[in-house]
Amino acid sequence: MTIFADLGLSPKVLSAVEDAGYSTPTPIQAGAIPPALERKDILGIAQTGTGKTAGFVLPMLTLLENGRARARMPRTLILEPTRELAAQVAENFDKYGKNHKLNVALLIGGVSFEDQNRKLERGADVLIATPGRLLDHFERGKLLMSAVEIFVIDEADRMLDMGFIPDIERIAKLIPFTRQTLFFSATMPKEIQGLADQFLQNPVRVEVAPPSSTAKTVTQRLVASHAKDYEKRAKLREIIESQTNIQNAIIFCNRKKDVATLFRSLDRHGFSAGALHGDMDQRSRMTMLHNFKENNIKFLVASDVAARGLDIPAVSHVFNYDIPIHAEDYVHRIGRTGRAGREGAAFTLVCKSDRKYLDAIEKLIDQPIEWLDGDLNALPAAADSNEREDNRRGSKNKSRNRKSGSSDVHNETVEKANESSDEKAEVMNAAKKEDRRENRNKRGNNRQPANDDNRSRRNRREDRDDGPTPVGFGDDIPAFMLIAAKA
Ligand code: AMP
Repeated sequence: MTIFADLGLSPKVLSAVEDAGYSTPTPIQAGAIPPALERKDILGIAQTGTGKTAGFVLPMLTLLENGRARARMPRTLILEPTRELAAQVAENFDKYGKNHKLNVALLIGGVSFEDQNRKLERGADVLIATPGRLLDHFERGKLLMSAVEIFVIDEADRMLDMGFIPDIERIAKLIPFTRQTLFFSATMPKEIQGLADQFLQNPVRVEVAPPSSTAKTVTQRLVASHAKDYEKRAKLREIIESQTNIQNAIIFCNRKKDVATLFRSLDRHGFSAGALHGDMDQRSRMTMLHNFKENNIKFLVASDVAARGLDIPAVSHVFNYDIPIHAEDYVHRIGRTGRAGREGAAFTLVCKSDRKYLDAIEKLIDQPIEWLDGDLNALPAAADSNEREDNRRGSKNKSRNRKSGSSDVHNETVEKANESSDEKAEVMNAAKKEDRRENRNKRGNNRQPANDDNRSRRNRREDRDDGPTPVGFGDDIPAFMLIAAKA
């Protein structure tokens, strides 16, 4: 059996690892650390929860012990797809780097440019960033990439999903060719293999689980549900209430607005719940995550972007309120539970129209998933005919919507006229909010004709959860503009 002392890490790092309570390296650590210390490129294929963060943080700390950073010239760069993941990696540097005096700078959206600037000015040994914010700093001339010795691309498949690849290609061109590159992905679709071929030179490939597998310790069940949101919410509550052993759970939705709606609904029904989605500011997200980790809330309703790779030990249950559209997301979501050999349970609500997504998931994980109480055919017949009726109405409304531009939430409001007043008020509020938001967007678009390139880039960044785009000069108003004009 390999022990940490066999891997070639420095005494300072080994002592911090011991203090963290870890004695045996995980397979990704045992496989990646020795070649990383030899300055080899690494292609790491590992799911979240396998200890991959320490797999790159520990060798980086050892390698960084010699040398110092110069102002605005970071020595290493780690790219993460979301703010939370970036913050989590920074926490790993705090934990394992406690015997070092390294400057770690975190460049993420939703945080003032000025504070980040000061860190860059001091010289960063480690720069951890989301691609959008990194490029913003670079474009403002606050950053030089020519001293980067180690370049880490983490969660590459998620970067691909979020449309970050062009930014990453741009960033990679700014870093010296002689750098060492450590590249991690949970899955290896062909686009990611192509990227790895482009970025890595003779990499050591370390694969710790077959791509797209789910942990054997997780009990997975499908739950047939009608398609409408209020029925899905009722079904979700029913499964939650049927489980006696929920310690804490993450409930995944596909869309940000559904995260907010479901959270409000659970809260109203007396569940201890919180929400995590990309429209929340950084401070609220961190507070929410902290409360969840500290067991102050039991249910965290989250979107994929917000929850990707979060280090939340011992989540007992995962609920997929929406079946994921990308089959790989199923693997990532389920990976939140059953970590480090623990037992876990994952329930996925499936509606009739979800059949193709379910097929893709079962194909990807190469196994059928058991139904909890009978498959879609077991849905009550009376409700079935209602659903067909609803679907017909739904599709009429959809085509109307396409013309009018009104939201799905609004459809739901019309359809749900006979629901309980509690749920009705909730949906009405959501619909009104949605309409107000759309109107605001429309007004905003009319007021601010941006050129197409800028607009699509900005929208992409917002979709990618990378924080608000600064308005005008943001925090960085050039000094000459602050000089009072002569009378
Ligand atoms: P990660 O896959 O990097 O998100 O890590 C998942 C979890 O495993 C984190 O809570 C780490 O603190 C923990 N961990 C990392 N290395 C080890 C190890 N060698 N033994 C036990 N747990 C570990």
